[in-house]
Amino acid sequence: MRVEAVCTGCSLLCDDIVVEVKGGRVKKVLHACAIGAKRIESALEAERALKPLAGGRIVSLDEAVKQAAEMLREARRPLLYGWCNSVNEAVRLGLELARKVNGFFDGPMSVCHGYSIWYARMKGIRPPKLDEVLDRADHVVYWGCNPAESHHRHASRFAVFPRGEKTPEGVESRSVTVVDVRPTRTMRIANHRLIIPPGRDAALAKLIAGELSGSRGKPSEAGVAEEEFYSFIESLKRSTYVVVFYGLGLYSAGERSGVEGLYELIKVLESSGVKAAAIPMSGHYNMVGAVEEALSATGYPYAIDFSGGQPSFSQEQTAVKLLSKGEFDVVLVIGSDPLASMPRQAVSGLKKSKVIAVDYQLSLTARAAELVLPAAVGGVESGGTATRMDGERLELKPFLEPAGCSRADEEILKMVAKEL
Ligand code: SF4
Repeated sequence: MRVEAVCTGCSLLCDDIVVEVKGGRVKKVLHACAIGAKRIESALEAERALKPLAGGRIVSLDEAVKQAAEMLREARRPLLYGWCNSVNEAVRLGLELARKVNGFFDGPMSVCHGYSIWYARMKGIRPPKLDEVLDRADHVVYWGCNPAESHHRHASRFAVFPRGEKTPEGVESRSVTVVDVRPTRTMRIANHRLIIPPGRDAALAKLIAGELSGSRGKPSEAGVAEEEFYSFIESLKRSTYVVVFYGLGLYSAGERSGVEGLYELIKVLESSGVKAAAIPMSGHYNMVGAVEEALSATGYPYAIDFSGGQPSFSQEQTAVKLLSKGEFDVVLVIGSDPLASMPRQAVSGLKKSKVIAVDYQLSLTARAAELVLPAAVGGVESGGTATRMDGERLELKPFLEPAGCSRADEEILKMVAKEL
């Protein structure tokens, strides 16, 4: 049997995937890239979490849910962490749960693209849809990101190679620029390659804006090669619609000035008569959805503290910072592996807490957790909606039954909330 699917391997949420299923197993995955195929096939992996575990012992799902509720109820300061790999409906439930237990709601968005998604929303900037980019953008800039390694089908399906309404020759109708701190694989398809030292993104954005407004600066101020820079500026001036896809490279050393400088540049481009937009290249499949759900429920994007009853937010108080101070005694981790990805001090704080892991795989965090609640693989075994990097909401199309005792994130959260 052949079924259509939406890939949850990255925030492009490719909706043209075809999966051949036989006897409840995946036989073939068509159209997906290597990352997407791996995600779809992960439902069959040996590292799957299939049974609820308490202290390493197999328990019933009811028992595990009861224990999770008890841990959260009795926690002095609970953290509910993750959400970027869960559907919008589960994020909403997570926010309700955090409110109910006076907890702290956060996830990888506070150290990834959460700030830029929030910054753009605060300024009232909505990104164009990828269909529009494909049809109309004649200059695509990849800034501080390397989609050839991270979002494999970005150029081939959405932004560079296919023909669009106003780009009838596909790649021949477009200019491609890559800005990065070193040569990358994405640069192989670029017409302009701007290599800058780390931390000079804001300076480069200012330099480009200056060129467009008639005040000349020196390319050396941004550490960029003069010849390459002016050839890019000439190309930019000939363009009619510029879209900048930017990655975490814009946050060198935790600085946010790169993102802010980029949005200033977009404004300058627009006022010079060029249509322009910027879209963050978030990695996790639903980081945009997690931030948008948090904003619509509380007015805050991430790092939301419900300990005082009402939600509060401080950019300086993120889960990583508070974990480093050993603030949390119980941590519910959903669809994330902080033990493998957080800085050493935060990991030490996490190791001192009791961890409840909700995940489809036995990650490093799940292996160290006090309690494991096995989750279904989103988009493969469970549905719901997810939000693409451009803000488009897509309905996932699950095609397998959840393996073992696993359940959709939403179902698990509802069960825990009911016990509370
Ligand atoms: S580009 Fe992303 S969404 Fe598309 S198939 Fe690859 S991993 Fe999946």
